[in-house]
Amino acid sequence: MQDVENLYCEEGIDTQEFISLAREILSRGGIDRAIVVDGYRVIENCKLFQTLKKLGVRRIPVSRGIENTFVPLEVMGFFEDIQPSIYRVFRDTEELLYKNWPTPLVKLSRVSIDDRVVWAKLEGFNPWSMSIKDRVGWYMYRKVAEAYGRRNLGLLVESTSTNTGLAIAAIANMYLSKLRAYIPSTVSQTGELMLKVFGADVVRSTKQLTVELIDEVNEIARKEKAIHLNQFYNDANFEVHLRYTAKELELQIREAGIAPRAIIGGLGTSGHMSAIALYFKSRFRGIKIYGVVPREGTIIQGIRRIESGMKWIHYIDIDGVIEVSLEEAIQSIIHIARREGILIGLSSGAVYTGYRKLVENGELNEGDYILVFPDHGYKYTEHLQRYLNSINSNIKPMDSEI
Ligand code: PLP
Repeated sequence: MQDVENLYCEEGIDTQEFISLAREILSRGGIDRAIVVDGYRVIENCKLFQTLKKLGVRRIPVSRGIENTFVPLEVMGFFEDIQPSIYRVFRDTEELLYKNWPTPLVKLSRVSIDDRVVWAKLEGFNPWSMSIKDRVGWYMYRKVAEAYGRRNLGLLVESTSTNTGLAIAAIANMYLSKLRAYIPSTVSQTGELMLKVFGADVVRSTKQLTVELIDEVNEIARKEKAIHLNQFYNDANFEVHLRYTAKELELQIREAGIAPRAIIGGLGTSGHMSAIALYFKSRFRGIKIYGVVPREGTIIQGIRRIESGMKWIHYIDIDGVIEVSLEEAIQSIIHIARREGILIGLSSGAVYTGYRKLVENGELNEGDYILVFPDHGYKYTEHLQRYLNSINSNIKPMDSEI
């Protein structure tokens, strides 16, 4: 066995090749051909080596000639990426992010009824943006820092609906660089305020969607020699969820002793749900994956419709896409706050609505269901206020429990 970090190979690997090799490794639960080396240089099965490295294995079986023996993922240290600090002592606020994983997986016992049990993965427990996007901001930053050095990144520019911006601003501040965030017109005032509090310069556009700003931000990056991490196309976005989010969810499922029937989550860049779909469809036979998007004509901060352009979802199989309105998402936030005592964000509200719709359509039978809730609800107080004002009285409870 060789430490992955000591080995190198010159051949690159593209997204499609990575995804098909990752699918093969995850479905088999290991590898059945050796990585052939000459010293520290990989000379055979280079793409397999690159894929294992991206998946986060620590050690790789190497050989000086081809040998075919099966080596399980566990033996290669696949799960060693997830190392929570039991007593929650962290060396700095960067460690507070990745040594605090897994984010909680909690049974929503008051909205689970009969034999349909709902589990929520609470990404709002990430420390910087209080969202799943901390993972992405951190990993994209880490990848460029590996190339340029952590303290030397200068200006970063990004199109963001708040959360990725907050995450990049947080890590940039730690390493003395600076973010200029380009936000669409639909971002909440609180989101903009938070970006400013985190020290980002903010440019608000008249366009409604983050994807509509990508070309402009690319051009600005080119002119000003700034770094555009570009969450929409940067494979680090997809890879971080394969390497950490999905992997930790498998460990949590094992601890909970459940075999989930389906995982439901929102689609924005499609980074997290594409990775979760690839991972779980490879490792858990029969599991279903559903994506939630805004209904046509609706804007729900953080998620958007597939036809607006997403990268990874097109490489992956999912079982269905559910459309949700903003009002339904807000009703779900209030419902979850009142039944479960936690405040979730707009896209999380949409995910819960998506789950209810699947149940209503008779698509979900008894069993365990996992809902990925991407962020905390504090950024959406304006939406909540407007909604409560509009009904001008105490909110009526949602329909009776499903
Ligand atoms: N929900 C919120 C609140 C988000 O900020 C995002 C992404 O920005 C998403 C959902 C969608 O996540 P992804 O980009 O991984 O599809």
